[in-house]
Amino acid sequence: MARYIGPVCKLCRREGQKLFLKGAKCTSPKCPLETRNFPPGQHGRNRMFKQSEYGMQLREKQKVRRIYGVLERQFHNYYERATRQKGVTGENLLRLLERRLDNIVYRLGFAPSRAAARQLVRHRHIMVNDRVVDIPSFLLKPGDVVKVREKSRKLELIHQSLRRMREGKQLPWLDLNKAALSGTLLEIPSRADIPVDVNESLIVELYSK
Ligand code: SF4
Repeated sequence: MARYIGPVCKLCRREGQKLFLKGAKCTSPKCPLETRNFPPGQHGRNRMFKQSEYGMQLREKQKVRRIYGVLERQFHNYYERATRQKGVTGENLLRLLERRLDNIVYRLGFAPSRAAARQLVRHRHIMVNDRVVDIPSFLLKPGDVVKVREKSRKLELIHQSLRRMREGKQLPWLDLNKAALSGTLLEIPSRADIPVDVNESLIVELYSK
């Protein structure tokens, strides 16, 4: 599956918001948003115009795509799937994205960012229900157990990430077993339990046109 390989900090500057795409750097003073919180490009600093309704909807969609590292076509497929589910489409969309294996590996703290989590999955370091799964978009269901493979338990990236995470708050819909380097998806999260600062209803408005 294709993925974005350009400079990621530019994406945050474009959205004017921290998207937490780079792990430890995001919470350090080295984050470019601390000193250059204006859009990238030669005229970025001067781009002070009122955004249209369409512009706001588009930016919100791009923001969510970038946070979860999903390209346009795949994102649209998630949206289509969300519309077919019961409930609020925007919330269904976020719930689907949260169930991705790369996201769960990141949320459990095994990787400092979703990009790093995706790499762990791709390189076959992760198992779901005792079977190796190397598809980052694999969707988990409640009760599924994600585990670091026995031969990968010494990977420094995982331990470093878990040490950093210790200070953070554990999500109520995940059960982490640090000693076993495993975690269980307890339930599909409610919108209130998804710590993503976006207005998903704007995305629904955009796609409903
Ligand atoms: Fe975004 Fe992190 Fe780069 Fe800061 S360091 S701009 S939060 S990706």
